[in-house]
Amino acid sequence: MPAINLSTDVALGVTIPARHARGRMARIGPVLDEVLAKHAYPPVIERLLGEALVLTALLGSLLKDPTGQTTLQAQTENGIVDLLVCDYLGGELRGYVRHDAERLAEAGPQPSLFALFGKGYLAITFDQPATDERYQGIVPLEGDSLAEAAQSYFTQSEQIPSLVRLAVAKGELGWIAGGLLFQHLPEGEEGRDRLHTRLDHPDWPHVAVLAGSVKDDELTDPALPLDDLAWRLFHDEDEVRTLEPLGLTRGCRCDPDYVRSVIARFPVDERQQMVGDDGLIRVDCAFCSVSFPIPLDELI
Ligand SMILES: [Zn+2]
Repeated sequence: MPAINLSTDVALGVTIPARHARGRMARIGPVLDEVLAKHAYPPVIERLLGEALVLTALLGSLLKDPTGQTTLQAQTENGIVDLLVCDYLGGELRGYVRHDAERLAEAGPQPSLFALFGKGYLAITFDQPATDERYQGIVPLEGDSLAEAAQSYFTQSEQIPSLVRLAVAKGELGWIAGGLLFQHLPEGEEGRDRLHTRLDHPDWPHVAVLAGSVKDDELTDPALPLDDLAWRLFHDEDEVRTLEPLGLTRGCRCDPDYVRSVIARFPVDERQQMVGDDGLIRVDCAFCSVSFPIPLDELI
């Protein structure tokens, strides 16, 4: 297997054993451009989706099950953005945003998270089929950024002291998004079930200060490999370990054969109702912005 490039389209796990801390760092460049190329979003939405995707990569890289899936979904009742969905499966990322273009144009070039979402919720789902574990947590979309919302997800929903930083930039080569997630885990990476986590454990503020000192342009610098960045942040620690890096790609599961097989499971009369004026059943993939036309007679 070729060595994984640690500069871009990659997630890297980091642990600081003596401080009971684990971390994940991720950066996406070409993968982000590939996701964005499926849509024609204004820059504000491209930036938001970049943040959400790199956050999804960080969350996905926490999964122990290689067949596991992480889904991040932000939903509002009446926000400029009414739906944002990203997911991660085996290193594959995809995402889309549904928004009101007219209201967005009125909101100016740098709307706050609240202006974009209004009253909204962030749901994070971890699905690990190998161990039959499914976990979903939901937090209000509050604070100034998606990073802050993710941080409160871990603190409120999972009771794990956490720090999340996300940054997105547009350079000469295209969009690039980077992020890090550090957490206090007294029982280590594998751990026992937590009965209690001391939120004021003295090791945690130390790690949070070091991890929190990361600059946006370090997170988004494609010339700075993630292991070098970890070293830059934690070089005074006795021991910093890196885990096996995870290569990231853009991927979707909407292949026409699969779509056909799903439609074929519907009763004949229901299939008839799905047929449009052109005599075809059309199934859309919002992640890819494509519509699959399926002739009814292909299903019988
Ligand atoms: Zn698709």
